Amino acid sequence: MTPDVRPLVAGNWKMNGTREFLTEIKTIADGVIGPLSEKVDTLICPPATLLYVATALATDSPLEIGGQDCHQNLGGAHTGDISAEMIADCFGTYVIVGHSERRADHAETDHLVRAKAEAAYAADLTAIVCIGETGDERDAYQTLDILKRQIFGSLPQSANAVNTVVAYEPIWAIGTGLTPTVKDIEIAHAFMRAELVQRFGEEGRLMRILYGGSVKPGNARELMGVENVDGALIGGASLKAEDFLAIYRVY
Ligand code: PGA
Repeated sequence: MTPDVRPLVAGNWKMNGTREFLTEIKTIADGVIGPLSEKVDTLICPPATLLYVATALATDSPLEIGGQDCHQNLGGAHTGDISAEMIADCFGTYVIVGHSERRADHAETDHLVRAKAEAAYAADLTAIVCIGETGDERDAYQTLDILKRQIFGSLPQSANAVNTVVAYEPIWAIGTGLTPTVKDIEIAHAFMRAELVQRFGEEGRLMRILYGGSVKPGNARELMGVENVDGALIGGASLKAEDFLAIYRVY
């Protein structure tokens, strides 16, 4: 945790979730398993097809809803894409950009990710900008170099602690059950913090840095307890309200 920083626990459903999954959103929003704390921000990013109904279910709750990606343009002839404005129009408040699966599946570059973050700002969304090294890069001791390059390349100059969240997701830890050691996370997050402070000053000190990659109820306490870890971006374990809330409750 970082002093004066409000943690964010975020779920990324990826390409999972038909209408029946909306009961999970309702369970979280209605506090069926327990109320949401006012001290922690809570977010679920369902597939775009569920956005509008999901935000309607969460209207009276602190649960926020966000998109998983947006186009870098605010509108126009881009078949199959959705814009940041469309997410905002559905009452979404966040959008994930630059997830490693998008970078890999759609050849997204740092430059494009930065443009998407700018589109998010234009629509008054908070961008969750994902960065992280591959297993090969880690084995070659390049992790910090990659993080430096991605922070420099993917974050717009106008990023601040309100419009931007950084999510560190080592690619080899996503969906594998593997996680870095606490020491490695501590080193990576301290490094990112220093880079953010260098570039954005006080805003960089207050910018949330999430950890993502195989966060589960069983390891969340340890991972969230690391200095400069200000929350989690959760894939698989966010699909069930019970697991998601078990992680959330470490705060
Ligand atoms: P995981 O995914 O929690 O299933 O490892 C994390 C993510 O990709 O955001």
